[in-house]
Amino acid sequence: MSRPVGVCWDIDGTLLRGGRVGGEVLRRAFVAVTGREPPPVPMGGMTDHLVAEAFRDGLPPAEAAELHRRGADYTREMVAAIAREWHGRGPELAEVLTVLPGVPDALARLAARPRVDQLVVTGNVRAGAELKLTVAGLSPGPLDLEGGVYGDLPGPRSVLVHTARATLERRHGGRVALVVVGDTPRDVEAAHAAGALAVGVATGAATAAELTAAGADHVTEDLSDPAALVAIVTAAGEDPGATFRERADR
Ligand SMILES: [Mg+2]
Repeated sequence: MSRPVGVCWDIDGTLLRGGRVGGEVLRRAFVAVTGREPPPVPMGGMTDHLVAEAFRDGLPPAEAAELHRRGADYTREMVAAIAREWHGRGPELAEVLTVLPGVPDALARLAARPRVDQLVVTGNVRAGAELKLTVAGLSPGPLDLEGGVYGDLPGPRSVLVHTARATLERRHGGRVALVVVGDTPRDVEAAHAAGALAVGVATGAATAAELTAAGADHVTEDLSDPAALVAIVTAAGEDPGATFRERADR
């Protein structure tokens, strides 16, 4: 492999399904911060920070304006409230959480490859990500949570992938190839905006056809054939096309 490869794993719909617990955490956080019920918002692939903004902006205009006046304090309070709401929810999560097919094997096989880092790059705040992965039995394990990037960051999801790239380039002292593995068109969009290859897995919010239409470089129904993902990651380290894509992005 000519260059190190960072595999950026989305969590929800890609590694695992956490049922409705995450939605309830976000709802309760919003109620705690604003005293209001949140409006309905499609959350697939959104960061918790973006969900906080969408809740605010989906309110009737006068109420949204009131939250806008709180500026960044509002989103900071939401992120902190979401982290608090995750506390102690392990047993509830354990009742509904499922690990998606092939995931433990895919993580293990990639961990056995030289020059491959596996990070979580997720819309969850860190407390939610850690709890889900722990309950799933995926942490501790090959996923790097310390170097991971979480949904408390402001901005579009691509910011997360750019941040992962910066982390890995510091770690390796030079260029890295990135492969984003995710379940929504937003993961695909974020990957491409940050010069990463996008692998779409149709185990979450989007169908294989939707991921293909979003421009994913590879689409798979699930990860039950981990060898296919290992081949993609190996090729990414050797692919001059990936280098071109990074340069085009910079
Ligand atoms: Mg997801």
